[in-house]
Amino acid sequence: MTPDDLVLLALRQHAVRPTRVRRAVLAVLLRSPFALSGTEIEVQLRPLSDRITLYRTLCTFEQTGLIHRVVDHADTVRYAACSNPTARAATADHVHFKCTACRHIYCLNQVPVPAVELPSPYRVERSDYLLSGICAGCQEK
Ligand SMILES: [Zn+2]
Ligand SMILES: [Zn+2]
Repeated sequence: MTPDDLVLLALRQHAVRPTRVRRAVLAVLLRSPFALSGTEIEVQLRPLSDRITLYRTLCTFEQTGLIHRVVDHADTVRYAACSNPTARAATADHVHFKCTACRHIYCLNQVPVPAVELPSPYRVERSDYLLSGICAGCQEK
């Protein structure tokens, strides 16, 4: 399957109409080994898309479970493609890792968020599990 086939298949599985911009945005996210901020995606899309279309697209993708949001300790929002973008079911929550050297945030899809028991009446709505340290690429340097 070519990268473009994967994009089309993923959009079809989520019943998202494959416009030019949507295809380009998903391709950018699938290609990136780390989560990207809206601005970083925008730079890669230029001049194909304006900011409003881009954020509308990200919102649609997030709602349909094609991508997920990655928030760091400074509340900067980044986006990453879900590990199995052609699967219809939402990806289970996984741990994110922020590298303090290259500053990229990686999805550790193989590491599930540990179950945390909370005292009542606390109720979890989101769990952003972010670890930081040195990524594999930076340790090799
Ligand atoms: Zn790094
Ligand atoms: Zn992730």
